[in-house]
Amino acid sequence: MSTPRLRFAPSPSGFLHIGGARTALFCWLFARKNGGSFILRVEDTDAARSTDESIQAILDGLHWLGLDWDEGPGVDGPHAPYFQSQRKAVYQEHIDRLIDSGHLYRCFCTAEELKEKRELAQKEGRKPAYDRKCRDLSPDEWPADTPYVLRLKAPLDGATVVQDLIRGEVVFQNKELSDQVVVRSNGDPLYNFVVVVDDATMEVTHVVRGDDHLNNTPKQIQLYEALGFEPPVFAHAPLILGPDKKRLSKRHGATNVMQYDDEGYLAPALVNFLARLGWSHGDQEIFTIDELVEYFSLDGVGKSPGVWNPEKLLWLNGQYITAMTSQQLAEAIAPRVEAAGHPAQPPDALMARRIETLKERAKTLNDLVDQGHFYWAAADGIAYDDAKAKRKFLNGDTLPRLEAALAALQGVDDWTESALEPPLKQVLEQLDLKMGKLAQPIRVALTGSTVSPGLFETLAALGRDKCLHRLRTGIALAREAAAQADSSPAESQAPLL
Ligand code: GLU
Repeated sequence: MSTPRLRFAPSPSGFLHIGGARTALFCWLFARKNGGSFILRVEDTDAARSTDESIQAILDGLHWLGLDWDEGPGVDGPHAPYFQSQRKAVYQEHIDRLIDSGHLYRCFCTAEELKEKRELAQKEGRKPAYDRKCRDLSPDEWPADTPYVLRLKAPLDGATVVQDLIRGEVVFQNKELSDQVVVRSNGDPLYNFVVVVDDATMEVTHVVRGDDHLNNTPKQIQLYEALGFEPPVFAHAPLILGPDKKRLSKRHGATNVMQYDDEGYLAPALVNFLARLGWSHGDQEIFTIDELVEYFSLDGVGKSPGVWNPEKLLWLNGQYITAMTSQQLAEAIAPRVEAAGHPAQPPDALMARRIETLKERAKTLNDLVDQGHFYWAAADGIAYDDAKAKRKFLNGDTLPRLEAALAALQGVDDWTESALEPPLKQVLEQLDLKMGKLAQPIRVALTGSTVSPGLFETLAALGRDKCLHRLRTGIALAREAAAQADSSPAESQAPLL
């Protein structure tokens, strides 16, 4: 095989879609595995729909996923930019060639005329292909001062065959294909033509793209033939479906790649998940990038669509979180902690230790931020807005337990799990209590909620100052509740009418 050259050719009219990212990934993996090149080409000929924000969003998405390109729009590298909007001269050169070789003809049919013909064909149950009325007009039959498009003089019989690496042989009968429009009346070339000129002149060897482009492929092959170019190898990957087997859309969850970053997914986990959508390698589910590059082959891409499974993505992300060190996670979440409105945290050993206590339960980076909110909050930054937990655990009954705990812990200097245990055990003996009766009020005082990692881990990782401060706050709230209960006995004991 000559050195493969693959391209990802997004149209910049939105963000990087999950489906586009999977296509880009397959192209990237194939290029990386076979020592080839991965080209990025922005298909921005449709000026009305293309925006700079969208170009940036697509580049950001590819960067985040780590799909680096060797040629194409350079943002922070020396790559030559490929924007279709900058290649008009190249397209014109090849339009002129097709005119000279007699492959294009002028079609003067008006839009209304074509619409009527289409409607008639539909009514009569025929495929609405152009009837080739203008195909054989001689120049002296051309109407004067009438706008025209240029159509391809496509073969009238025989078949155009797509030899697809994934789909196998797909045969299109030429009589069912129209003489496609190649150049609009304003001189602009059409989509299929520019794609062919780009792929041919960029020496793309393998066109890997979504199944939704399969119907364009015979038209493109006819253009390759007319232009005298060798067609590339085609591989059309099946689309991604939602769990209900309908085409993946917003209804099924986020389709914007960067939203997964926002939600705390890790790029390698999403890459792993995307690779497995339609591709497999035995029963293996978890792959490093190097393994994906090593094992990837288009033979492993099946004909049936990949089904989006959000639970599996979440599980996979959890596996990647577990595999990271707490120090790496501290670095990954520090900016998120601050963005969530907490004081800035240096991603230091203390932060790593706190993460260690949360890691097991977290499936996303955002879980670490949310579940560890009491670590990241300032000493007095806990809201105690879980009314039920507060009512149940910070009241007159628990007040003596909290006071005893504070008294016992105040004397501890070596703030470690092993040093914190004995004084609290003593409190249990002293008050003749089971651990739960003491642990829950302390937990609510420290975290504002009834859910946290193990009590001693939490105490040790939270640190002396925050623990003592919040125990005092818990005591104050318990006193307040006790005082309120005392001052309104009638209300609390009133029978329900
Ligand atoms: N620009 C097309 C798209 O975004 C892709 C064209 C192709 O891959 O040939 O769907």
